[in-house]
Amino acid sequence: MDSNISYIKSLLENKFPFFGINKIRELSRLVFEITKRDGIDPKSFIEGIEFSDYRGAKTSLLKLRYPSTYSISSKDSFYLPDIDIKNSDKACLEQGEFNPENIYYTREVENTSLYERIKTLFPSSAFREILSLKEFLKDNKFSLEKYNQRRENLFLVKEKFDFFKACPCTKNVVCCNYSILNTGYGCPYECSYCFLQGYQNVSGIILPCNIKDFLDVDKIKPSHGRLFDLPRVGSGEFTDSLVFDDITLFSDDIVKFFKENRNISFEFKTKSVNIANLLKIGGADNITVSWSVNTEKMIEENEHLTPKLEERLKAAKKCAEAGYGVGFHFDPVIFYENWRKDYEKTIENIFDFIDGKYIKWISVGSLRMPAELKKVIESRFPDNKILDEELLLCDDNKLRYTKRLRTEMYEAIIHKIKKYDKNVVVYLCMETAEVWNKCGGIE
Ligand code: SF4
Ligand code: SF4
Repeated sequence: MDSNISYIKSLLENKFPFFGINKIRELSRLVFEITKRDGIDPKSFIEGIEFSDYRGAKTSLLKLRYPSTYSISSKDSFYLPDIDIKNSDKACLEQGEFNPENIYYTREVENTSLYERIKTLFPSSAFREILSLKEFLKDNKFSLEKYNQRRENLFLVKEKFDFFKACPCTKNVVCCNYSILNTGYGCPYECSYCFLQGYQNVSGIILPCNIKDFLDVDKIKPSHGRLFDLPRVGSGEFTDSLVFDDITLFSDDIVKFFKENRNISFEFKTKSVNIANLLKIGGADNITVSWSVNTEKMIEENEHLTPKLEERLKAAKKCAEAGYGVGFHFDPVIFYENWRKDYEKTIENIFDFIDGKYIKWISVGSLRMPAELKKVIESRFPDNKILDEELLLCDDNKLRYTKRLRTEMYEAIIHKIKKYDKNVVVYLCMETAEVWNKCGGIE
């Protein structure tokens, strides 16, 4: 990939010898994206550019790159950063048991039950004491290449501050008043669109050993979103809620706490099927286990190392039978040729497995990302197709599909869900009031 980009740059430099670095950089980005998307040879493509001036060449390339949105978008909607793809940053997509080579811990967690349990579960790992995560990071510079090795390192810490907070959401959208209980940081799965890959600065998985300190009615004070019966708290923001549950058994303490606090709703958000402990302890109506779902094609192409849709739905069915509420998150909804038919199929599959009366909510949110994540995705997943579509830069510095396309996708998904069960609570995640209203209003 590195050489393909250098090749494109040198072809452009030859064709436009009087253009400066910045102009060549922008044109290279456009040629790279068009030729990758269309699977065509850059050499003949560049030879075919008819314009010799910069403005003409760039406009013609923008029109080819953004055929549906060029004429309706402002010029600053097209995000054209330099291309900086390194083969060494490519994500490792080999399946394997989580078995960290190194387990770093701080002295204060040494007597905790999680530390003891991890010692038993991973007898051959090297246990290394560290002063603090902050000190460790000072001596261990982070890079994307190291992020790819995060499954090799587990950090056991005492979390002192970051237990509970309002979901950060984004500006100018309808917020659902969700709150987050932070049960860890880092995920072993490899979803191409994952925001953590652009956010996490630790090459490892971090688990707090003091989860009981989190579960305190004086600390958990969620707000109440008006679509829901109860104020909602959930884990699963900075890690998958259940992927490590067989190791941590956090669900023991969480389920116990929320069974004693039925005025708050708790949600485990996952793509895993790691539900054995949940089934063992049994659920309650205010505890929901929810799955992020997608079309089979998008799961196959983008949600690497995760269980297939059918496995997730079987797990959801078992959780419903064990007394938990279940939820689903169509997030991110991804645009591609057969999106409508395939998302409808996923909805059919959900209702084939689960009676609507067990479903507490379904959220829908389209693919979006901080602009800088684009470079991380193309480096880690050079074969991804999600960036080939027309994602436009918005006011909050995030890339999204147009409002028109987002609305069309939401309407199709909501319509199909409501055909199965008109009473299911459906909400949009990170969407503007304008889009909500176009999709039938804020219920
Ligand atoms: S709409 Fe989505 S991002 Fe915003 S608060 Fe709710 S869950 Fe969080
Ligand atoms: S499951 Fe969630 S946290 Fe894990 S890689 Fe996928 S998107 Fe990221």
